[in-house]
Amino acid sequence: MVVTRFAPSPNGPLHLGHAFSAIVAHDLAREAGGRFLLRIEDIDGPRSRPELADAFRRDLEWLGLEWDEVPAQSTRLDTYEDAARGLLERGYLYPCTCTRAEIEALEPRLGSQGTIYPGTCKGRLLDPARPAALRLDVERAMADSGELVWEDELAGRKVAYPREAGDVVIVRKDAPASYHLAATLDDAADGVTLVTRGADLLPATDIHRLLQALLGLPVPRWHHHGLLLDGSGQKLAKRRGSPSLADRREAGEDGRALAAQLRAGEFPAGITLASA
Ligand code: GLU
Ligand code: ZN
Repeated sequence: MVVTRFAPSPNGPLHLGHAFSAIVAHDLAREAGGRFLLRIEDIDGPRSRPELADAFRRDLEWLGLEWDEVPAQSTRLDTYEDAARGLLERGYLYPCTCTRAEIEALEPRLGSQGTIYPGTCKGRLLDPARPAALRLDVERAMADSGELVWEDELAGRKVAYPREAGDVVIVRKDAPASYHLAATLDDAADGVTLVTRGADLLPATDIHRLLQALLGLPVPRWHHHGLLLDGSGQKLAKRRGSPSLADRREAGEDGRALAAQLRAGEFPAGITLASA
């Protein structure tokens, strides 16, 4: 049974790139007679705007998609805490009190997920009064897990290189999980067998594969689709003038017709699909 999901964060409205992503996930499930899930990833603290989740559902309906909704991330905080505690007890996480500015001041190397944390707090006595995040000790985790591989339907067989991301944050200072931990746990809990999302998240999958190994989770397959780009070759974004799906819907555009065009590879003027 193929189970896919669309997992938007209610930090801003959905745009055409999200529509494309949802349609890819929906169609891959339907073609296989499987299930398509919607999961609201709403643990971004003050950036999360719960009222947007309703607009997302209306957007998907407008596109003609049908889905089963699984619980939003904000209702699963306990499971994230439990998993993080286990990883901490096993020595795979360490606290870090650094601020972004402190890390940038060290001129860290750029990795697959932004700057690579230079490990300042690893093995150091920390000021208990300062808020701490928990970071993954990627060297230690890789030493125990050995070589890890994963399969992408488009990119083929990949060997995971989570070192290219460095000691990423697993538990944020302001939330009991980072995207990496929450999404990995949820995909397992929701029975997702085919993780579909944009190719910009390919490098993040190396971390997810490592977390699956550490947490003993089932390993799904992945399908990282190409991204829709605007005229300047950048990812679509509302702040760069790409209209939201809600704008299009409210302007009376036919969502099913739009979905049919996206399926046929016909994109509005100026928009192109980058190969994955
Ligand atoms: N909430 C993430 C986003 O909107 C989902 C990424 C994923 O599909 O894993 O970017
Ligand atoms: Zn630190």
